[in-house]
Amino acid sequence: MKKVFGLLLIIGLLVFAQAGIATAPATTSTGVKNVILIIGDGMGFAHVQLTKLVYGHLNMEDFPYTGFELTYSLSGEVTDSAAAATALATGMKTYNGMISTVTNGDKVYNLTTLLELAQFLGKSTGLVTTTRITHATPAAFGAHVEDRDMEAEIAKQLIEHKINVLFGGGKKKFDDATLELAKQYGYEVIFDKEGLEKASGEYVLGLFAYSHIPYVLDRSESDVGLLDMTKKAIELLERNPNGFFLMIEAGRIDHASHGNDIVATLAETKELDDVVGYVLEYAKKRGDTLVVVTGDHETGGLAVGINYGSVVDVNKILSIKKSTSFMAAEIKNGGDIKEVVKKYTGIELSDEEVEYIKQMDQENPIFGLSNALGEIISKKVGVTFASHKHTGEPVPLLAYGPGADNFVGFHHHIQTSKLIAKLMIFGVPRVNILFEGTSSAKGDLNGDYRVDEKDAYIALMVLLGEKVDSELEERADLDNNGIIDLHDVMLILQEA
Ligand SMILES: [Zn+2]
Repeated sequence: MKKVFGLLLIIGLLVFAQAGIATAPATTSTGVKNVILIIGDGMGFAHVQLTKLVYGHLNMEDFPYTGFELTYSLSGEVTDSAAAATALATGMKTYNGMISTVTNGDKVYNLTTLLELAQFLGKSTGLVTTTRITHATPAAFGAHVEDRDMEAEIAKQLIEHKINVLFGGGKKKFDDATLELAKQYGYEVIFDKEGLEKASGEYVLGLFAYSHIPYVLDRSESDVGLLDMTKKAIELLERNPNGFFLMIEAGRIDHASHGNDIVATLAETKELDDVVGYVLEYAKKRGDTLVVVTGDHETGGLAVGINYGSVVDVNKILSIKKSTSFMAAEIKNGGDIKEVVKKYTGIELSDEEVEYIKQMDQENPIFGLSNALGEIISKKVGVTFASHKHTGEPVPLLAYGPGADNFVGFHHHIQTSKLIAKLMIFGVPRVNILFEGTSSAKGDLNGDYRVDEKDAYIALMVLLGEKVDSELEERADLDNNGIIDLHDVMLILQEA
């Protein structure tokens, strides 16, 4: 395998290129060294706007290049986190619930991920999240399963993938055998803040909570936060001279938004923004690090305001110190609804509101109580949620660093993923593609009687994730599984 792709990417592709054919000068490039992808699970535009309204200037405002990201999956306009993360991780759409796999006919295929591409390029890799590390978003970068609920299998695959840094919650999904496997694979396994501070291994598995890491609002001193994990992850990963790929997920913006808990939603989004600030400073100092920030989908149909004028009660939002699920747990433990809500929010509930909360609790014993508290408190501070589910609204896309200008505009997740892959493999230069010959050999996509980086580029940017030309697809399908994905791109690079 060639590690450095010295490229002459002046390829003419008459079939696709309409204007500006192949006039750029020849450029030699190696790919972008480091890539940090930050995902706010459930983070739409209103999440960002309200976080700014409440907390002031955001680091997210400092990005020079921004865009819109469409999120729909093969299941329809409203994706789940599994299909959304698969699209971001692989450049391929899939059905809701699937983790970097897709069904084609009655067969299920694995889709190669950006993390696997980074490993192929000799980079270190890391996944960091506030959810269980086996939850959909991190899973899609480091595992392949048909169903996101197969978390014990995901845990095993994350280890087998030899991902250098795995930080999050989810201890409960790692049984003794999987923890033993981690040790066999050379992992340093840590469970708390002290372990995180001291960690220094080439492979580190950090499981900092039994399930998800507590909400920012509900954390104690001993809990590990997203910024702590991010700092350590970068420190561990940047030791590799070939660079690294790191995915950081603020995974619980989504959970708080499902519960319509506006205060927790904004605190989680603020934590993401703090991480964004740290990463942006890091990238600014170096010049070799691409930072991409996006949401996987919007959750809750969050709207800024419920009337005209100044309606969002910022001071009230800042005064509430616990999540609604924390309050709900206290109520379930025998606390009086009115007293608990008064204690943590200062809000006096009416008898009708208490009745509604009790009724919701009966209808949905797991989430009904906290959902009802979320609905009532959100309205009282001047915001609304349309639902307790995801929406098909677009999400923000922000980019900084080498090649960041590529991300401007209106994309789907799969295009963003392909652009990241392109920058990792080929670096920054713009590429014009031309078909140059008549060869129809396997792997020789531009027909110039050679299999080289030009063909890898065509497979990546033209074919991956999209049906274009069946004859060309046939030639690009090096592993003969009927799907053009990053694996075929990598096989072409290997032959080059
Ligand atoms: Zn969700």
